[in-house]
Amino acid sequence: MLVGRENMVSIEEAQHTILGHIVPLETEKVSLFHGLGRVTPEDHVAPWDIPPADNSAMDGYAFAHAAAHAPRLRVTGFLPAGEEWRSPVSPGEAVKIMTGAPLPQGCDTVVPIEEVEADGDWITLASPAREVDHVRRRGEDIRRGDVIISAGTLLRPQEIGMLSAMGTTSLAVFRRARVAILSTGDELLEPGSTPTPGKIINSNSYSLAAQVLEAGGDPVLLGIAADTLDATREKIRGGLNADMLVVTGGVSVGDRDFVKAAIESLGGEVTFWKVNMKPGKPLAFAMLRGTPVFALPGNPVAAMVSFELFVRPSILKAMGHRRVFRPKVRAVLHEAAANKGQRPHLVRGLVTMAQDRYRVSTTGNQSSGRLSSLIQGNGLIYLAPGSRYAAGDEVEVLLLDRGFEMGE
Ligand code: AMP
Ligand code: MG
Repeated sequence: MLVGRENMVSIEEAQHTILGHIVPLETEKVSLFHGLGRVTPEDHVAPWDIPPADNSAMDGYAFAHAAAHAPRLRVTGFLPAGEEWRSPVSPGEAVKIMTGAPLPQGCDTVVPIEEVEADGDWITLASPAREVDHVRRRGEDIRRGDVIISAGTLLRPQEIGMLSAMGTTSLAVFRRARVAILSTGDELLEPGSTPTPGKIINSNSYSLAAQVLEAGGDPVLLGIAADTLDATREKIRGGLNADMLVVTGGVSVGDRDFVKAAIESLGGEVTFWKVNMKPGKPLAFAMLRGTPVFALPGNPVAAMVSFELFVRPSILKAMGHRRVFRPKVRAVLHEAAANKGQRPHLVRGLVTMAQDRYRVSTTGNQSSGRLSSLIQGNGLIYLAPGSRYAAGDEVEVLLLDRGFEMGE
């Protein structure tokens, strides 16, 4: 089989083609705070105003501004949060009110405790109060009937809090994608064994499972397929009841690479075959009996980078997310870097923030089998073919994880 540059697709084309096949999953009901990190399929409409009534923003004294002709007011009672004042407040009178308590009828202004002089049942204002000061108006946050959270919104803690304020105890969210993971290769042993000559541990299943979890999906490990067409086909068939299937290894052009043939023999049409990128050129995507199948390269870095670029956005789209790509930032290069090759090189980099700018250094040997290059890094630097940068130049970096929290 020829692997010419002419039938390669770009990263963006591959992403576009793949995402065009991904449809949202069904929804499920979860208790409110387990909706965190999930996406709502429906609009949420406020059943009532928030706040439900004009109320005090301070511990202070409530009165009617227009009727307070003198700086001295007579205090006729005490109103804590959670209670309601039912009797009239006459001109020249005030009610001692705590934060959050609804303003008594007729009152429109609150003066904070710190700004009065209290003397028995009387207070004296230190300075004239401004009308409607220190009052939170009914509905100033939310009005009944407003769409507070619209369909397609990612639920963060603040959305959870708002939903609870609207009386929600459980809600529908897009369900987690079940993503089956299959490793292929006669050289692979599962963790727990000690490698014998010629063998290595299957690490891809676990890095990919962790990537699935991190994306909010639910990984299903299918184990290892031996390098035969039959074994590969049977394992792939076993993964088709998941929402997606990720296969790693065996997708290249070697004598023992059976993944593409296995997918085709099960009736799948492989949508493309080579993506113009390094690491991770061999990559196949197929819809197989309705299930998206991703065949990623076997090299540990190539597998993870390919997952980042193609599988993660697919999982997010299936789970209802509108924003499915990692953020790209411009960062100042710590040392010179060049791409002498003909494919865009996604160089693993360590991004930091200093003097208000992102800075990035490369993580040494960039062999696509060298997982350490990802362990030392947190981003992918995009180096176009034939590009050359000096230390201090700006490059584009895809941020792979947060990692920007500050220490104590
Ligand atoms: P392949 O694409 O099957 O030719 O594999 C490319 C390289 O990745 C080989 O060195 C494999 O041993 C290695 N490899 C393939 N699958 C895995 C895996 N699941 N875990 C770790 N390394 C792997
Ligand atoms: Mg292999």
